[in-house]
Amino acid sequence: MAEVNRGGPLVGSDLRDDRMRALDRHCWSVSGEFRKLGELLDQDPDAIDDHLDLPGVLLYRFFSIPRRYWPALDVPPQVAAVCGTSLAQAVVWERFSYADPNVLLAGPGPALSSDAIHALADEEQTDRWFRRFAARPDHTFFAVTEPAKGSAATELTTTLRPATDGDGWVLNGEKTYVGNGARGQVGLVFCRRAPGPWGIEAALVEASSPGFSAELLPSVGLRGARISRMRFEDVRIPDRNLLGQHRRPTQRGLHGARQVFYRARPGIAAMAVGCAQAVCDHVRGQGVRDGGAGGDRLAAVEDRIAAIRRLIHRIAADIDGGLIDPHRIAAAKAGAARVAEDATVLAAELLGPASLLDDPWLEKVYRDVRAFEFMEGAGNVHLLSVFQGLLKGSGAGAVGPEGVR
Ligand SMILES: Cc1cc2nc3c(=O)[nH]c(=O)nc-3n(C[C@H](O)[C@H](O)[C@H](O)COP(=O)(O)OP(=O)(O)OC[C@H]3O[C@@H](n4cnc5c(N)ncnc54)[C@H](O)[C@@H]3O)c2cc1C
Repeated sequence: MAEVNRGGPLVGSDLRDDRMRALDRHCWSVSGEFRKLGELLDQDPDAIDDHLDLPGVLLYRFFSIPRRYWPALDVPPQVAAVCGTSLAQAVVWERFSYADPNVLLAGPGPALSSDAIHALADEEQTDRWFRRFAARPDHTFFAVTEPAKGSAATELTTTLRPATDGDGWVLNGEKTYVGNGARGQVGLVFCRRAPGPWGIEAALVEASSPGFSAELLPSVGLRGARISRMRFEDVRIPDRNLLGQHRRPTQRGLHGARQVFYRARPGIAAMAVGCAQAVCDHVRGQGVRDGGAGGDRLAAVEDRIAAIRRLIHRIAADIDGGLIDPHRIAAAKAGAARVAEDATVLAAELLGPASLLDDPWLEKVYRDVRAFEFMEGAGNVHLLSVFQGLLKGSGAGAVGPEGVR
């Protein structure tokens, strides 16, 4: 089986597009320092501040900013041409995560929130948002999850009420597990103006606003994500920061969140697959070969990785073509999170339990990949979606202990 760590074609992928292959090679060439940087971020996620000019960190920052806002950047034109697409995101996030997923998550830039901006914002808001991130390396947050309302996101309770003096809006509530919540200078907060799913709104919130507070949550893995708890106590939201006021209620807050989830999940799946592939390559590098019992088990995991990668690339290409199948997306996300965990368990087994003590990189990736189960929705909830897809005949395939079939 071809190894990803030589920068060769991704096994299982249908990347026939020359520009995607060029992007893949480019990511490979600019992520070399990520593994070392990932170790630093595991100790101190803010250490990213000393590495903002690394080509890979810059590519991530500008990836989701439309090109019309870019300054002169040292990115090959064929690579720049595909930035922003879902398929390119899957390629970039996998390659970068193969090196270290923490770098990507700790890096500045509008990241996921950009999809909500595209889906919800008016022209002025869009322009303001992207100009800001093109001008400086700000971090952002995308705050949906609330204590006890993780998977039941549509039941969120953070409130948005008209200010009694008629000047804008007032935000009250709490969010938790939000990436960069205590680090971002600005972000999107999903809140409720009225009961029901169409009463959800998305507001642009500045962290400097009076009444805004946030704290980093202790975490054992994927520390670059800097998951945080956030509180809003009578935070004033100017009218111009409420997104989607020109849209119908069905095309507002929840619609924007869904657009982000659909596009982010293949990306998170790609991150998990990147980590899983890195672990398999690492084990191969320790001398485990095909033919023996260990090698065959490793090959079985590699085959699952290849199958999920193919699924990710297909659904990402479909999303770029305007076709969204939430059930297949759920299958990819759940399958990728599972195979990443399985790869680390197998590695520890094949290399011996002491490997987790003796091999700091393996120990770190073992901790990191467990976060993928919860990012962008917990596994059980995705499995329910796969099941619903099967009932509807969407052809999503099944996700079992052996992965996506
Ligand atoms: C690294 C990381 C980064 C994150 N970044 C963000 C972010 O930027 N913004 C943000 O808003 N959120 C973020 N999250 C939060 C993430 O989206 C939530 O953790 C996720 O939605 C699950 O919510 P929960 O943790 O409250 O778990 P719960 O929803 O409470 O689930 C707990 C357990 O119950 C199971 N479960 C729940 N409902 C069902 C059901 N109906 N049937 C069967 N089983 C069920 C789940 O599978 C899980 O095992 C992040 C999380 C992590 C780990």
